[in-house]
Amino acid sequence: MTESECRSCKEKGLLPILSLGHMPLANALQTGADLEREGEMYPLDLVFCPACTLVQITETVPPEKLFRDYLYFSSFSDTILESARSLTTRVIEGRHLTNESLVVEIASNDGYLLKNYLARGIPCLGIEPAQNIANTATERGVPTIAEFFNEELATRLAAEGKHADVIHANNVIAHVADLHGAVAGIAKLLKPDGVAIIENHYVKDLIDHTEFDSIYHEHLCYYSATSFQNLFKQHGLVLSDVERIPLHGGSLRAYFQKDSSAHETDGAHAFLAAEQAWGVGDYSFYRDFGTNVDHLRSELTSLLRKIKGEGGTIAVYGASAKSTTLLNYFGIGNETIEYVVDRSSAKQGLFTPGTHLPIYAPEKLLETQPSHTLLLSWNFEKEILAQQQEYRVRGGRFIIPIPEVRML
Ligand SMILES: [Zn+2]
Repeated sequence: MTESECRSCKEKGLLPILSLGHMPLANALQTGADLEREGEMYPLDLVFCPACTLVQITETVPPEKLFRDYLYFSSFSDTILESARSLTTRVIEGRHLTNESLVVEIASNDGYLLKNYLARGIPCLGIEPAQNIANTATERGVPTIAEFFNEELATRLAAEGKHADVIHANNVIAHVADLHGAVAGIAKLLKPDGVAIIENHYVKDLIDHTEFDSIYHEHLCYYSATSFQNLFKQHGLVLSDVERIPLHGGSLRAYFQKDSSAHETDGAHAFLAAEQAWGVGDYSFYRDFGTNVDHLRSELTSLLRKIKGEGGTIAVYGASAKSTTLLNYFGIGNETIEYVVDRSSAKQGLFTPGTHLPIYAPEKLLETQPSHTLLLSWNFEKEILAQQQEYRVRGGRFIIPIPEVRML
C-alpha cells in the first residue's frame, strides 16, 4: 500500500528525496527452489514531511511478509552486544532497578539485551513477533511473547498488572506500520515515572554519510530528535534526554518520559536547537542526497569494473538488508560478484534477494582467496576486519563503499 500522508502528523504535502525504483524485500533471502520464480518487488521512495520533519518511505509492505522468520539474530554482532551491556549497566544503576522492577523490550530479538537485566535479577519481558526468534529467546531463559507490539497488547499487559519501569525499543520504531499504535502502547505500558529508551538510525548520519543502503521496506521512518519529539508528544511523552551513539553508522538514543513526570532537560533542549540550526526542518538539507547517491554508484561500479578488467575476483561480505539495497540499486550482480559470505549460519546456503548470489560462511574467503571483498556490512567494519586478518595477510583487499569508496 502506498501512503499519501505523513505517518506521524498526517500532512499530505510530502516532498520527494530519492526514488530507488522497485526493489525486492531486503531480508527475503531465497532458497534454491525460490530462484525458479520471480521474487516480489515493491516501490521504494523516500520523502520528507515539511510539517513535522519526518523522513519516511511511502510504501507499506504488510508486516507478515516482512517479519515472519526474520533471519537477523542480534547476538551475532559483538558491537551490539557490547552496546547493550554498557547501556543496561547504566540504566540499572541510574534508575535503581530491583527484583520488583520490570523491564520490557519491544522487538527483543533473541534476548541479547534483556539477558543483562536477568543476570542482575531484574524481571524482564521480551516482545518479539518472529516466532522462531522468540522461541530461541525463551529457550535461553528470557520470557518472550511472540506477538506484534501495539496498543491492544499493551492494554492487555497493563490489565494483567504489568507496568514497565523501563521500555527499550531498539531499531523498531522505524519498522512499525501501526506507528501510533506502538507509541500509544509504550505510553500505556510505562509506569508514571518510567522511561522509554528508543534507539534508531539518525537521519542526519543517513544524509551526511550517504547511508542510502539503510533505506529498505522494513525501515518506514528515518528519525531526528525533532521528528521523534513531534511523534511522541502526540501521546503525552516528552523527550527527557537524547544522545548520539555510533551503532549502525550513527544512531540516536532518545529517552521519553510521561509529560506529568518530566520536562525537556537542558541536554534535550540544546540538541533540538542544534537540529534547527543544521536544518532538520528544511527540505534543502535532504534534497541533494539523491545526487550524492548516484555519484557513489558511478564511483563504485567503475572501480569494480576496473578490478574485473585486470583479472581480479570479487566477493561480498555481508548478506544484510543493507547489501540488498546497495547491490540492487547499483545493479551489481553475478557478472561481477562470485559469492557472498555471512557469519550468520541461518543465512548460509541461501541466495541474496534480487541478485541471487549464493551465501557461504566467511571461511570461504580463505578457501578461494578472491582478490577483493566488498564489505557491505560496513557498519561492523572494525570487528569484521579483525576477524579477516588472515585473508588480508594473504593479500586480499577490502573495499568499503560508504560514506565514500575506500580500498584497504
Ligand atoms: Zn509529518
